[in-house]
Amino acid sequence: MPKSAFFEAVVGAPGPAQRRAIAKTITLLESTRADHRQAADALLTELLPHSGRSLRLGISGVPGVGKSTFIEALGLFLIERGHRVAVLAVDPSSSVSGGSILGDKTRMERLSMDERAYIRPSPSSGTLGGVAEKTREAMLVCEAAGYDIVIVETVGVGQSETAVAGMSDMYVLLQLPNAGDDLQAIKKGVMELADLVVINKADIDAAAATRAQAQIASSLRLLGLHHHPDHVAYDQLQWQAQVMQLSALKAEGLDRFWAAVSQFQALQQGNGRFAAKRQQQSLAWMWERIQAGLKHEFSEAPAVRAALHDTTERVLAGRLAPSTAARELLAQFFGDHHA
Ligand code: GDP
Repeated sequence: MPKSAFFEAVVGAPGPAQRRAIAKTITLLESTRADHRQAADALLTELLPHSGRSLRLGISGVPGVGKSTFIEALGLFLIERGHRVAVLAVDPSSSVSGGSILGDKTRMERLSMDERAYIRPSPSSGTLGGVAEKTREAMLVCEAAGYDIVIVETVGVGQSETAVAGMSDMYVLLQLPNAGDDLQAIKKGVMELADLVVINKADIDAAAATRAQAQIASSLRLLGLHHHPDHVAYDQLQWQAQVMQLSALKAEGLDRFWAAVSQFQALQQGNGRFAAKRQQQSLAWMWERIQAGLKHEFSEAPAVRAALHDTTERVLAGRLAPSTAARELLAQFFGDHHA
């Protein structure tokens, strides 16, 4: 089969032609036209054997915590050390606001001007699942183009953290040095996802940052024990979530941050969890998309649409058990599909 037009340019030498090919490929992937989707799927299949050779770093935190400042400082730190860095985003709210917060052109100005970095704002349409799908695919394209560090950023609101953790090798949570800030993260279940918690803005109040660090360290220990109640002693071969403080604005602490990331990567690669996690993520993602696809088909099916209102009313009035209602609607759906 002939390779698609963009393939050679994407996997080819870095430079303006490659950048254009990456951008065009991602635009194709984001298209909703059926013929585009077919071409995009064929291209993805070609690119896939060239992808995966990267470290995928997920980063989240509330607005204002310093994500862009941190990612820009880290990106500059990494390209100076010979890496190529892609920065992608998952921001489902951008479709509501009409413009992506994470795609703001003034963000990461220095990094975006560098040839060795590629920054792509969040796709701006559809559900979280849809947006996350496009970002996952863009990640594969960047990897095929030789970006060896892929940073996926999300705003710390809603379910987007889980989506980003589900496409990262390592998930980093940025926190402010405020007492109580960590409680929010624990309540939302985000702290449990974190491999590393970074307290940013430590330059403002060193004492507060140190208090926050101690507090978060004990939260992480509790969460760790909760996850592994049988482990009286920690398994030395398993990564234990860590917390550290730094200043993104002053670019202080990046070397310690990167040392922790490298340690994580070495450990995970050594104990086999790095590859296993990616396999697990791929399958989980496949099933997530199957469920989303089925749900969409279901709610669009004429027989379901015709029956839904009445069935909903009967459930609300307490005349029909929800499980019976579900079975009835599924029967309508399958009637439709087998007809
Ligand atoms: P984002 O919304 O999470 O992307 O946050 P930004 O990176 O836009 O940062 C929000 C504000 O915090 C900006 O005014 C930054 O200059 C500031 N900021 C970010 N990191 C630091 C830091 O380490 N120390 C201090 N003092 N300010 C910071």
